[in-house]
Amino acid sequence: MTEVGRAALEAARTYETEIIRFLRDMIAIPAESLKEGERCERVRQEYERLGFDEVFFDRLGNVVARVGDGPLKILMDGHIDCVGVGDRAAWRHDPFEGKLEGGKIWGRGAVDELPAIACMAYGAKILLERGFPADVTLYLSATVMEEDCDGYCLLHLIEKEGIRPHVVILGEPTDLDVYRGHRGRMEATITTRGVSVHAAQCERGVNALYKMAGIISDIEQLNDRLAQDDFLGKGTIAASFIECTSPSLNAVPDSATLYIDRRLTVGETVETAMDQLRALPHIGDAEVALLQYDVTSWRGERAQQEKFYPTWILAPDHPLVQGVAQAVDAVLDAPPTISRWAFSTNGVASMGRLGIPTVGFAPGLEELAHSTEEWVAVDDLVRASAVYSVIPERLLAHRDALTDTGEGG
Ligand SMILES: [Zn+2]
Repeated sequence: MTEVGRAALEAARTYETEIIRFLRDMIAIPAESLKEGERCERVRQEYERLGFDEVFFDRLGNVVARVGDGPLKILMDGHIDCVGVGDRAAWRHDPFEGKLEGGKIWGRGAVDELPAIACMAYGAKILLERGFPADVTLYLSATVMEEDCDGYCLLHLIEKEGIRPHVVILGEPTDLDVYRGHRGRMEATITTRGVSVHAAQCERGVNALYKMAGIISDIEQLNDRLAQDDFLGKGTIAASFIECTSPSLNAVPDSATLYIDRRLTVGETVETAMDQLRALPHIGDAEVALLQYDVTSWRGERAQQEKFYPTWILAPDHPLVQGVAQAVDAVLDAPPTISRWAFSTNGVASMGRLGIPTVGFAPGLEELAHSTEEWVAVDDLVRASAVYSVIPERLLAHRDALTDTGEGG
């Protein structure tokens, strides 16, 4: 542990009660994608209370804070929305209570990923008190609709609101390790067409479901042949939903649509994955299409994007990976494991689409995300806040490398 690390941890301990209160308040306000407004107001209130230089909602509804005005621009991002809770009876504690018990906080979002929003804010506060570096601009973003369309919020922030960071730190759970990538993904449909007739004379029609049957078995077999990568894991394909149109339960259906979840590993692109679907042995005259995302945000902004999310990896020796790892080491007195997520994150936009170096660091266990057992340890909230406060200084040591190669300016 370095002297700075020790001081940061001591400072973070003095804010433990406030960090807990902020996190529990956020958990207590339900905020599924596109319905984040009330929780966003709560975050804005906290950002303003902490005395950051600028606090605002962008047009999409992301909450943004700025601290400092230096040439090295760092964005720390945590998404504010959560998935639903499913069967409430399956939860040990009320998902919206933010139950504090045995040194843990429980509830929907207690891992994915409200702790990062709380800890990043208090990390910035601690750094302000220690003396904020003149050469840094730190942006905090609490972003919307990530669970619906990962990355769209950051794409909006960076491309439409003009915030161009040199580096991005994501608050998806890493259990205080440093993550540097994940598989990409896409959502597609396959539609078969038939000819509807009375089911009593079914041989006179063409059954769209029967045309789909061979395609489904092709997909199951394709999954076994997909590319493998030692770091990110294997590409996968899964049929996830099917629907059909039919005039009645006593008729032959005239169309069927199959939904596909495709995870893309190293070397797999949306083009190669779509070509694989078009080349399935039973595809015949079926139509293959990429799904489109098209919604209105809680602030009334229309959001549209194809449902394709690129694979990304940042090299392990990249100064961003090294700088964040040094910050972890300074506070925890042990180097973090450098790894990757199983799921997808906002990094599909910052790194995957825009090439801005991106890593993840946050408290919480990745495997608890979206489960009824979401909890985070209070000790880890304190430690993560201390690490976030040290990251800007560690990145300044790599300033030339980061500002030369980044997209900022
Ligand atoms: Zn998340």
